[in-house]
Amino acid sequence: MNRNGLENMMSVDWEDWYQTESFRRLYPVHTWGNLAGRLPETTPRVLDALSAGECKATFFVVGYNAKRYPHLLKDIVRKGHEVGLHGYDHTSVFKQDSKTFSKELIYCRKMIEDITGKEVTGFRAPNWSITPAVFWALDILKEQGIRYVSGMDQQLFLRYEFCLNPELIQFPRNSLKAGPLVVPFGGGFFLRAYPYPLTKLLVERVNRQKQRVLCYIHPWELDENTPCKGMTQFWRIVTTFNLKKMKKNITRFLNDFNFVPIGDVIKSV
Ligand SMILES: [Zn+2]
Repeated sequence: MNRNGLENMMSVDWEDWYQTESFRRLYPVHTWGNLAGRLPETTPRVLDALSAGECKATFFVVGYNAKRYPHLLKDIVRKGHEVGLHGYDHTSVFKQDSKTFSKELIYCRKMIEDITGKEVTGFRAPNWSITPAVFWALDILKEQGIRYVSGMDQQLFLRYEFCLNPELIQFPRNSLKAGPLVVPFGGGFFLRAYPYPLTKLLVERVNRQKQRVLCYIHPWELDENTPCKGMTQFWRIVTTFNLKKMKKNITRFLNDFNFVPIGDVIKSV
């Protein structure tokens, strides 16, 4: 392995194929129990890929999945990974009111802590959905004992940094500004869509400035057979583009860079 010295952060949004935004309309939450979940198949693939790269990650857990697959959640923790929260049913925060958000947060945190025996201190907003209209969510997260949040794109974070709750540590999604364009990188669709050397170049550039990169992947991205029937053309492209290359890209990524769970970075601050 030929790794750069700075530690970047690796995360997994632990969600199943039917919980993505692309299937929101076709499969509302009340239908989920009738759908064949693929997490029992895809979770071990993620764990194996991380083990092969000698990498520990933060798994942001959709509460519904903790309830449906507590044994898989225990496997994740047994392998030494950190767990954080990712909503109960992957609803974007800007679609929720403060009461529902708070109720689900308390419920999921207790459930996940009871299953894993580990304290949960991190939260990732589904679909990076913390916008100025729902900055109240940050205060609720702090009140409920959450220490760090991964909730918005970096450019939005930089614009509003001054008015966010200073007691919460923020880990926004990486992006670079290129003229009028915001270019996200290092995770999900972008890790699949960009040629790997471009991802490598961008991460090296950020690391040279002594900044860490936050990577994120999804279990369904290691599943070439992930269902896409019924999706709009747009979502079909976003969801399935270069799925065949994802395993290879992750392997190279883990080989080229050092990654740790987000919680480890907080401990070292
Ligand atoms: Zn998600």
